[in-house]
Amino acid sequence: MMDVPLLVSSILEHAAKYHTDTEVVSAGPGGAITRKTYGEVAKRSAQLAHALDELGMGEGDRIATLAWNSNRHLELYFAVGGSGKICHTINPRLFPDQVAFILNHAEDRMIFVEPIFVPLLEKLADKIPSGAKIVVLGETGEVPNSDVLSDLVAYEDLIAGKPESYDWPQLDENTACSLCYTSGTTGNPKGVLYSHRSSVLHAMAISWIDSIGIAGTDCALLVVPMFHVNAWGLPYACPMMGAKMVMPGANLDGASLQKLFDEEGVTMSAGVPTVWMGLTAHMEEQGATFKTLDRVAVGGSAMPAPLIERMNKLGVSVRHAWGMTETSPVGLASALKPKHRGLSDQERLEINAKQGRPMFGMEFRVENADGVEVERDGKEYGALLVRGPWVAERYFGRDSDSPAFRDDGWFETGDVVTMDADGYVKIVDRTKDVIKSGGEWISSIELENVATGHPAVKEAAVVAKTDEKWGERPVLFLVIKDGADAPSSSDMQTFYEGKVAKWCIPEDVRIVNDLPHTATGKLRKTDIRDML
Ligand code: ADP
Repeated sequence: MMDVPLLVSSILEHAAKYHTDTEVVSAGPGGAITRKTYGEVAKRSAQLAHALDELGMGEGDRIATLAWNSNRHLELYFAVGGSGKICHTINPRLFPDQVAFILNHAEDRMIFVEPIFVPLLEKLADKIPSGAKIVVLGETGEVPNSDVLSDLVAYEDLIAGKPESYDWPQLDENTACSLCYTSGTTGNPKGVLYSHRSSVLHAMAISWIDSIGIAGTDCALLVVPMFHVNAWGLPYACPMMGAKMVMPGANLDGASLQKLFDEEGVTMSAGVPTVWMGLTAHMEEQGATFKTLDRVAVGGSAMPAPLIERMNKLGVSVRHAWGMTETSPVGLASALKPKHRGLSDQERLEINAKQGRPMFGMEFRVENADGVEVERDGKEYGALLVRGPWVAERYFGRDSDSPAFRDDGWFETGDVVTMDADGYVKIVDRTKDVIKSGGEWISSIELENVATGHPAVKEAAVVAKTDEKWGERPVLFLVIKDGADAPSSSDMQTFYEGKVAKWCIPEDVRIVNDLPHTATGKLRKTDIRDML
């Protein structure tokens, strides 16, 4: 067979040729809509690639983005990666010090920044890598006045007048094309460098119908940010399949999303559970249903079964998927099998609420503390290990490698799970969050999921407190829905009865106004432990 390299530029060329007039729609500040086609995105990516070359950017150079989802961010993915440089997406919601750490660790040579994040860069002015060129993602002449940042240039001025075609280099497919740092709930963020090969393979895999599933008839709205593990691969998969893309920019509240879903004819979307929590509540309050939305993919943290049920009632099916920054990210997806056809809604819901079964290409192993593979009975707990063509081999630019990348070729995910005979994996906890009570393990996630099924509960978090007798006991933190009465501790205990083993039920229940989240919307358990 021909030895043709798998390159991200070939995705762009394919979309430009065969999905020329399919749209990429971006919502800007105030909801202003910009429409481009894949044909136009390809020309603009070529212009950007020429601009980068003229500025002296070379193969392997890192180019940072602090940006929302938009056609410009998509052009950056293809122009930077396609021309042999590395597109380094940074999460603007990280602490400023973490942004500074990441910019320097990656030695970024350029920073493409949304106007709204210019003040963040101004604050970090003396910590930005020296000589880094800053481009503001705005219209012609649209650069903010800045006393501290010099030579700012607007994106549209940068690409204006450049040739609309580019000779994309035939790189080795193992060349890096993008870089993403984990949100770093422990220690400094760690970088993962994705290759052209891993990105193309992963994009193909997430397009499968039993994975996230993308078709040419789809209109996909990317709620998941392009700085969160490359928006789970959708910016590559959509142009590959020819799906229309909708980029919501900064407006992720229920009302803005509903408007965009309905007006653009969105059929599928992807995002973390927090977003669906907000949108579902909004739709229920309005008594509204979606006009075209058929399904959503959800991951990043566990989607509680009651929320899946509520979305199902709105006519939307939910595909639970699991992944990590280190795994590109998608490795498991909760699609059903033929034998599940006759199941009741409740039985089906139980499977959908699991993190999913392995996608072809990804191998998983669940081991106990002695390194022995556990029974695949859906009951025995163990540590989840993974390996595959879109799993990182090590972290970027680190002298001493993390022990999570084991010598035997497996990567330790840090998740504690069960796996059943069909391969469905259920996350029981993070290794560091599981509650060890009287020699047994209690899953904080299971307790949180039950609590969110209580009608008055908006969000729940469970962490361990030290206990003289049991070693550790669970403490339940609850955020109450607006207008609802907070349940008492004994109400909550009654609510748990019959849903979890008696000895797992938290005696200590605390009502709080808010829970701390990471920049990607996950509960920040370290801070919740501090709240104790
Ligand atoms: P970080 O670990 O820095 O927060 P990641 O986005 O890489 O960033 O997080 C990966 C972790 O997120 C997984 O190891 C797992 O614990 C959790 N996770 C991802 N998807 C799911 C899911 N569908 N259900 C439950 N947990 C999930």
